[in-house]
Amino acid sequence: MSYWLQVVVAVPAHSSIAGPLTYKSELPLTVGSLVRVPLGKREVLGVVWEILPDSGALLEMQTRHVAGVLEGLPPLSATWRKLVQFTAGYYQRSLGEVALAALPPQLRDLSSVQLARRLKRPVADTSHTPTTTNLIALSQEQTLAIAQFDADSRPALLFGATGSGKTEVYLRAAARVLEQDPTAQVLVMVPEINLTPQLQSRFEERFAHLGKERVVALHSGLTPAQRLKSWLAAHAGHARLVLGTRMAVFASMPNLRLLVVDEEHDPSYKQQEGARYSARDLAVYRAKIETEDTTHDHGPCRVLLGSATPSLESWQATLAGRYQRLTMSERVAANDGERGSLPTVRRVDMNHQPKHSVIAPPLLDAIAQRVARGEQSLIFLNRRGYAPVLACHDCGWKSECPHCSAYRVFHKIDRTLRCHHCGFTERVPRACPACGNIDIAPVGRGTERLEEHLAELLAGVKRPDGEPPRIARIDADTTRLKGALESQLASVHAGEVDVLVGTQMIAKGHDFRHITLVAAINPDGALFSSDFRAPERLFSLLMQAGGRAGRDARHSGVSEMWVQTFHPTHPLFEALKKHDYPGFAAQQLAEREAAGMSPFGFSALVRAEARAQDVAQGFLNAAAAQAEAQQLTGHGQVTAYPAVPMTIQRVANIERAQMLVESPSRAALQRFLAAWQPTLFETRQQAEFKSLIRWAIDVDPIAI
Ligand SMILES: [Zn+2]
Ligand SMILES: [Zn+2]
Repeated sequence: MSYWLQVVVAVPAHSSIAGPLTYKSELPLTVGSLVRVPLGKREVLGVVWEILPDSGALLEMQTRHVAGVLEGLPPLSATWRKLVQFTAGYYQRSLGEVALAALPPQLRDLSSVQLARRLKRPVADTSHTPTTTNLIALSQEQTLAIAQFDADSRPALLFGATGSGKTEVYLRAAARVLEQDPTAQVLVMVPEINLTPQLQSRFEERFAHLGKERVVALHSGLTPAQRLKSWLAAHAGHARLVLGTRMAVFASMPNLRLLVVDEEHDPSYKQQEGARYSARDLAVYRAKIETEDTTHDHGPCRVLLGSATPSLESWQATLAGRYQRLTMSERVAANDGERGSLPTVRRVDMNHQPKHSVIAPPLLDAIAQRVARGEQSLIFLNRRGYAPVLACHDCGWKSECPHCSAYRVFHKIDRTLRCHHCGFTERVPRACPACGNIDIAPVGRGTERLEEHLAELLAGVKRPDGEPPRIARIDADTTRLKGALESQLASVHAGEVDVLVGTQMIAKGHDFRHITLVAAINPDGALFSSDFRAPERLFSLLMQAGGRAGRDARHSGVSEMWVQTFHPTHPLFEALKKHDYPGFAAQQLAEREAAGMSPFGFSALVRAEARAQDVAQGFLNAAAAQAEAQQLTGHGQVTAYPAVPMTIQRVANIERAQMLVESPSRAALQRFLAAWQPTLFETRQQAEFKSLIRWAIDVDPIAI
């Protein structure tokens, strides 16, 4: 007797195979089983999605057999499959692509023997040490937040200032869930891989009493073998707590009871290729379906989002009552029992500073005082390299990238011009390539030049021990080698650095106890950006950067956040000065509501790439005209705007265009996109668009 199965496999995004494929099997398999199936000449990993009734003799002749089953592996749960199905539908990708991307790649290559060995549970751990960790006393706000979270089943947004002790709340919420149910599992997500090690050791220490290997990590920085091991531990239910980045939202966890999303506003929760999902949004959805799951008896699955500067989407959800809000506005006590306070914000009006000054005299003075007292300063500039452009003042030549519509950045350390978009790198020419003038000069300033400049400016200043100040830089260039970031951060922690220069990389999450001054050198760009989310990102970055200062109560009286700006009275800086996120959010939400933008309206971007800009734009416009002709836009509920070139129009000789699609209704937008997909595929086949390289839909884009 044969059984017919629908199996999902990974297929290229735009292949003609979109849905599951039919295979037959001599064994009755369960839905959710992992199988190996033939696809063309290859054998690929697949997930059994559905069992079909007998399909008759004709089909039997064409249908190929399942090649093998990954034995010993419990099937993927119904809620896992539902999460994958939802993701594929909502983000307009194929089921197979989403399903297989959510599984560890190494699963594909394992033989049954290897798998059986991997599945062998770790030796039963008899050394169950009782909790010996001395739990610190919670602050009043923490106690209240936990009580509120327990009492209300809605998704929760923990709105907690930097240093208010959000991690301790996550730990307590997780501990509660793990203690109440000996099989319960918890997923904790963080935005950055480099934040996982410190958090992982904190969670491991707290939950050491649960036994060995109960806390595992899941992120793209792991080796394939480590990732497989963590995944199997989660899937088998052995791992009680999974700590991971956005990909972890798809971890197979049969008894998931709590999801925590730390720094929920962080843009890195949005996947930027393939299925462009938001792991934060999926976490909320997953908690809902895990709770609704009736296949076995269990308590609800909760979701806890946390941030000092929540995304405006989550904030609006608390205002509308869909999420509950837990507020912690005070910093918790440091070791000496004294509470740190938020830094004083100082705005430097650059209109009144000497022309061309990079660091205004009052800021320089404040940094020099810190050096003399043996305190640390963090100077932050969101542009790496020495100078963004190299130019000839005789003929006007500039260091354009020949392959992109962007300038190549001058890196002085190895005397190269590097394109940050396509990577094209050349030695700096000795003379102007256009006119031969030998006097070509850097224009503008990146972190490398700022570091050099600061060394000159602080040359006469002495540390308390009489030595000159030690200046260091942390950005993508200094941290390219594995382990470099960790060792550089360690030297900052050890007090071996007086002035730290860096990009936004240093603004996130690192707990620098001895920093008493944080300065943003040139944050104005985001105030007038065409991207409506730019102010939100800037505010959050500055609040986060400011949060690095004064975490140690000994210093908090003198800690300061400096902002150099030509627009000191801008409402964003007014709100920053008062540490007033709710005020900032109210103003931004009013603007967005008036303009019908997220979270009051819904949008998707369709991007197209071709050798010629008119092909990319032409494809998008033709597909939109077709949608109009087919009346897909539903009586004006959905608006598709004309295609435009992307901000950086050409990268690596590829022209890029995008089309914005908007609707006041999420459901209408979803209906439109689903109905429009076949039209996009058909338009792609037309002769005039043969040279199109690729196109993709980005639902709920985070940058426009
Ligand atoms: Zn020239
Ligand atoms: Zn380039």
